[in-house]
Amino acid sequence: MKSFRKELWFEVPTRRAFINITPQVRECLKESGIKEGLVLVNAMHITASVFINDDESGLHHDYDVWLEKLAPHEPVSMYKHNVGEDNADAHMKRQIMGREVVVAVTDGKLDFGTWEQIFYGEFDGRRRKRALVKIIGE
Ligand code: ZN
Repeated sequence: MKSFRKELWFEVPTRRAFINITPQVRECLKESGIKEGLVLVNAMHITASVFINDDESGLHHDYDVWLEKLAPHEPVSMYKHNVGEDNADAHMKRQIMGREVVVAVTDGKLDFGTWEQIFYGEFDGRRRKRALVKIIGE
């Protein structure tokens, strides 16, 4: 069995953002030389997510509005976690949007469903953060 590991780094200038990382994951798969197996992609921070959905700006706006309703950033004083911090909402947004995704690799390609793309979801940006890509197979 072959195994491949790479970290993808991000420095998002805003507090929140959704970034399509499908091209980078595809590049990792190419580099790995693996034709049949599994790709795992996970955020390496507890205030960021990796998830799969549609690359559609209206939907991303709707996610942002929905997440702000569930866990508003302000007022930061309403969260017990925010003693010396201001990112309680980011922990909650990450919990909802998930830590990782697994994608099947078939014939050297990401075996997606219709419109599926992989996203890095940032909820507490403005610093360097990373996601892990791990690929196993033959
Ligand atoms: Zn925190």
